[in-house]
Amino acid sequence: MAFQLIDLPYADDALSPAVSAETLSFHHGKHHKAYVDKMNAAIAGTAHDDAALETVVADARGSNAGLFNNAAQTWNHAFYWHSMAGSETAPSDDLKAKIDAAFGSVDELKAQLKARGAGHFASGWVWLAEKNGALSIEETHDGDTLADSGFNPLLTIDVWEHAYYIDHRNARPAYLDAVVDGKLNWAFASENLARGSTWIYPK
Ligand code: MN
Repeated sequence: MAFQLIDLPYADDALSPAVSAETLSFHHGKHHKAYVDKMNAAIAGTAHDDAALETVVADARGSNAGLFNNAAQTWNHAFYWHSMAGSETAPSDDLKAKIDAAFGSVDELKAQLKARGAGHFASGWVWLAEKNGALSIEETHDGDTLADSGFNPLLTIDVWEHAYYIDHRNARPAYLDAVVDGKLNWAFASENLARGSTWIYPK
């Protein structure tokens, strides 16, 4: 069974003006859809057609760059849509305690997310992740993912230009400011932390 492009978990204007409906129409409706379609074309008639997306990603890593990039980008974008919300949600007590332990405060974590995102060279992803009970900020380049990494990803931010160019032109820091200050879904991060294992792409 082929993978489906997941629906956005909010209305297409819910993130505006940080991320506009026009950006989502391209980013979700064109970019994300293209990754799903290309992956489905690559796995049609193979055992991966019935596999979990996380298995496709892990199997293709290091052996099939084309399939890996499309499968990982399918996963990353779905995770990114859920990492944002129309209004910033609240972290659980457990997540808040772990943020305080690793970063000192939520505000300091936000400042570090912005700095890592702004400093990331070229295309990629910035993540809040958990491993062995401790939180850290991680970066992956291009289409790379934490889905099969040994980290439990909690949140991610897409720093490819297509994520912000319509709304913020070349000003990646303005996009990061707008998303990090008011659109992060800490409730989703809390669910991921509580589960203790990597979020699974719905199929
Ligand atoms: Mn993207």
